[in-house]
Order: sequence, then structure tokens, then C-alpha cells
Amino acid sequence: MISGKTKLAGIFASPVTHSLSPKMHNTAFAKCGIDAVYLAFDVDQKNLLKAVEGIRTFHMLGVNLSMPNKTAVIPYLDGLSKEAELIGAVNTVVNQDNRLIGYNTDGMGFMRSVEEAGLTVKNKKLMVLGAGGAAKAIVVQAALDGGREVVIYKRKNDTFASVQAYFKNVAEQTNCSIHVYDYEDEVQMRKDSQSSDILVNATDIGMGNKKELTPIDKAMLHEKLVIFDLIYSPQETQLLKEARANGCESQNGLGMLLYQGAIAFELWTGQEMPVCEIRGMIDGSSTH
Ligand code: NAP
Repeated sequence: MISGKTKLAGIFASPVTHSLSPKMHNTAFAKCGIDAVYLAFDVDQKNLLKAVEGIRTFHMLGVNLSMPNKTAVIPYLDGLSKEAELIGAVNTVVNQDNRLIGYNTDGMGFMRSVEEAGLTVKNKKLMVLGAGGAAKAIVVQAALDGGREVVIYKRKNDTFASVQAYFKNVAEQTNCSIHVYDYEDEVQMRKDSQSSDILVNATDIGMGNKKELTPIDKAMLHEKLVIFDLIYSPQETQLLKEARANGCESQNGLGMLLYQGAIAFELWTGQEMPVCEIRGMIDGSSTH
């Protein structure tokens, strides 16, 4: 029941109506008996500053950010966590006594799904396909969490050199070995797949009109390679089907989705999100 003391959290994004976050957080507030609500606000870069001022004005717990606001919000905040600074993007703002601190819980969320699979990235070699926002969050977090080596495969287009320079800087700041290779370099890819512990598909190959496609030749999948596809709809992509056929352990992106939200919830409330119940809920939603 909404009262005079009810606290507010929300998401600033555009478009925003498809977001699963309101359902996830409102269910968690109710299950934990927290007097708060979470709303979706259609906010783009034109009205972002005013919306951020609203976090202070309305004493909000904080907000999540999604497209197109994850980087644009940074100049409006009072501080950044280490991972948000390195990633250069914020998906969660926490209102700490009117100081707005930006975090990026995407990579941390992914790491919790890795732990859930009984693994750790510490001293491991990761192979990441794609170099967009999700890949950056995962690579930075892996480097901060003691990953030994990360190899990233990206198309050799006009953003290749800048992406390479970006990851060179992350490597220098974290002491993790990070290299970016051409997606077309099959020889290098074959070599890296043999020596990697974890493979992450951070491209959209496997969903939408690329549903029938797979981001890597199935001959490169081997039993010792644990495969994470960040896609969660469909729940089992072509890559995950091939992983299963090759005897590889694998997981889709639902864990990352769930835990990035759970960490934001913890940052706002100091309480754990009841993830089992929330997982059942988003599992059903993601198939629609
Ligand atoms: P993004 O910023 O658009 O990056 C996509 C990356 O995929 C880019 O590096 C792009 O290459 C690469 N790519 C696209 N098509 C390709 C192709 N045909 N061959 C080779 N590379 C290709 O997207 P994002 O936000 O990082 O998301 C990536 C994936 O993760 C999506 O499937 C998304 O649904 C999923 N995701 C899941 C979660 C979760 O919680 N589970 C969260 C975020 C994202 P170029 O750099 O060359 O353009």
C-alpha cells in the first residue's frame, strides 16, 4: 500500500515500456516488505539533466539507466564506482544522502551468474565475442576480479582501432592481459578457443533475425569450455544447442539480467533480492 513514506526508484530510458525492471523490483519490494515503488520513466538525453535533478528533489532511492542514457548521465553525477569509471557507462545511480553515485552492475551481475555455475573468473582465460556495451562491462569486471587473460573478437570496421585503444587502457589500469582480434581471424580464434576456460557471446547473433545463426564454428567448442550466451530470448540459442550437443556446460543471459537487478536492489535497500522468486517471474516474461 502506498503511504506518505513510500520511497521511489525507477528507470530512465527511451523507449522504456518493454523494461522488465519495474516488475522485478516491485515484486522484490513487496516480498521484502519494503515501502517503495519502482516506475519506468521515458527519459532521453534532452530531459536527462532535469530527470537526474529529480532524484535529489524527490529523495529517490536511485535509478537504473538504459539506452540512451548510460554514458550521457556521467557528467551529472557526484561520483563513480571503479567499474563504472572504467566501463564509461552507468546502469545504476544510488542516492547516498543526496550525493549521486554511479555504478555499473552489468559485469558484476554476469560474475554472479558465473559463480552460480560453480565457477570463478579468477586466473581464468575468457574469450568474448563482440565488443559493445555488454562486452565492455564483462571484460572490465573480469579484469577487476583477477581474470588472467581476455581475448575479444570484433569485426574489423571503423571502430576497431578505438576499441583496441580502449581495451589497451583497461589492461594497463588492471594488470590483466587483454587483446582485441579480428572476428574473421579464424586461425587465432581456433587457438584461443582451445586455451580458453569461458566463452561469452556478447553479440546479438542468435536472436531476432539472426536467430538461426551461431557466433562461432561449433568445431571450436570443447568439453572444457563453459559457454555463456548473453541472449535470454530465445532461452536456448543455436549456440547453446550446439554447446549442449558438444557436452559443454552452458547458460543463457537470464542470470546476468537477474543479478544486475539484484545488485542494484542491494545498493538501494541494503537487502538481498529474493532472487529465486524473481527468477521464476522473469523466466516467464522473457519468453513473450
Ligand atoms: P552492442 O553494444 O550493440 O554490441 C554488439 C556487439 O556485437 C558489437 O561489438 C558488434 O560488432 C557485434 N556484432 C553484431 N553483429 C555481429 C556480427 N554479425 N558479427 C560479428 N560481430 C557482431 O550490444 P550490447 O548491448 O553489448 O548487447 C550485446 C548482446 O548482449 C545482445 O544480444 C544483448 O541482447 C545481450 N545483453 C544481455 C544482457 C543480459 O542481462 N543478459 C545485458 C546486455 C546485453 P561491431 O562492434 O563490429 O559493431
